[in-house]
Amino acid sequence: MYDDLKRQIVDVFRYIEEKGWNHGRAGNISIYIRKENRVLITPSGVPKSKLKPEEILVLDAEGNVIEGVGKPTIELPMHLAIYKAYDYVNAIIHAHGIYSTTLAIAREPLPALIDEMIIYVGGDIRVAEYAPPGTSELAENIVKALEGRKAAIIANHGLIACGRDLEEATEILGLVERISQAYIFAKLLGKVNLLPKEIVELHGKTFISRLK
Ligand SMILES: [Zn+2]
Repeated sequence: MYDDLKRQIVDVFRYIEEKGWNHGRAGNISIYIRKENRVLITPSGVPKSKLKPEEILVLDAEGNVIEGVGKPTIELPMHLAIYKAYDYVNAIIHAHGIYSTTLAIAREPLPALIDEMIIYVGGDIRVAEYAPPGTSELAENIVKALEGRKAAIIANHGLIACGRDLEEATEILGLVERISQAYIFAKLLGKVNLLPKEIVELHGKTFISRLK
């Protein structure tokens, strides 16, 4: 079942590892097939760039395994909670890119610094409060930080990027990772200029209209 989507997940993990947006066993990806109430999700503990399509699990929306062997990622509660809370999200990437993780360690939100960040991601990227991996508390904190956004930094951990499909989630991940890098460099230069308030508001309306 869902062979093409499973292949897509495997390909995205290879791509984001090549880009330096994730590494090793870290990270997890899911896709929600909303009309069929099925979730495709990566297994726990596998080196992600070596993942095979047949290792991707198929679950129902309550997290019961329908197809596949092995255990789903420990972060399953967070994926299910996001799909439940936001009906415009059908794909989620959680990754440990170096620049977003740097902000996660500093617990520093990423301000809305570039027009695209508002139009495509919704605005500044908040930091979800720390809770241990895999807990429902962490899932709740992330859902809260994602309100009106397609990405959130997870304190002392990494990044969550969401999209209508996996292609969009991958674009969001790349955009946030690159802007995180540019923000850190701009801070090193000692000068960070924010976008004008009226532009932030204008682009914010564009983002909301694109959600419908
Ligand atoms: Zn993680």
